[in-house]
Amino acid sequence: MKPASTSIGPSAHGFRVDLTGRTALVTGASSGIGRRFAVILAENGANVVIGARRHGLLEELKISIEASGGKALAVTLDVSDENSIIAAYDDASRHFGAVDTVIANAGVIVSGSPLKMSAADFDRIMAVNLRGVFLTAREGARRMAVPGAAAACRGRILIISSITADRPYQGISAYSASKAAVVQLGRVLAKDCARKGINVNTICPGFIETELTDELWDTEFGRELLESFPRKRVMSPEALDGLLLYLSSDWSAEITGSVFTIDDGQSLA
Ligand code: NAP
Repeated sequence: MKPASTSIGPSAHGFRVDLTGRTALVTGASSGIGRRFAVILAENGANVVIGARRHGLLEELKISIEASGGKALAVTLDVSDENSIIAAYDDASRHFGAVDTVIANAGVIVSGSPLKMSAADFDRIMAVNLRGVFLTAREGARRMAVPGAAAACRGRILIISSITADRPYQGISAYSASKAAVVQLGRVLAKDCARKGINVNTICPGFIETELTDELWDTEFGRELLESFPRKRVMSPEALDGLLLYLSSDWSAEITGSVFTIDDGQSLA
């Protein structure tokens, strides 16, 4: 059960940028944060390529975005599969032209004692949360690094990590390790891509109401966690709108290799 009464509502932020002419590829767009990213990027003018495994949900989202006047392409992909990622970028290029904005968002969690975690679960988390982010970012960067890109400096890669990258919450050791790994991946990629006109930044959100955290709030640990947050509430995906849009836009040309926390003060607990 979600702690809806304590969440921040569709907010308030109302921040807008002009992303007309941009094409953004969002992984993990079939639900939660990625779905919201796709909607808000499209509302601000970007063509959006929405990727995940559940094609039906992507098609529903595409229809919804187009009904609001946006442009979307649904691509079924598995971020842990190199060929699938390459095919998704190929589809995007054929449909909209080159992708210049990449949101490496897809992620999975397995919680419980690390002493009981199977090697297969560990590998699955790393395959999606680390290998998947690497493959998504690498293929995007390869395609953005074209002649003239350095001067234009319009390439944007955003990696979605988590406050668990830095803070040890019990029962999510492999997930937290994967999130810490992508923070450093983002920093180093930023350095490697600095002279190619591609900015790489990482967002570390706090706890947000999505499928990923759905069951957490019914556990004793979840209730204690919520009680420990200074504002006693979790965020909604809309809380990331402003930063996502800013980092996806031309306004952030000088921001690369940065790591941003958005957690409503949760990690102050
Ligand atoms: P979610 O609703 O469960 O969404 C996860 C998304 O990842 C889904 O769209 C899922 O789509 C996709 N996905 C999973 N495995 C995939 C694969 N192999 N290939 C392609 N897509 C795959 O969870 P969420 O909360 O929005 O999570 C999005 C990101 O935010 C994750 O990286 C998560 O770690 C991060 N995050 C979440 C929170 C939070 O509190 N919710 C906090 C910090 C960071 P399909 O199942 O259709 O493939």
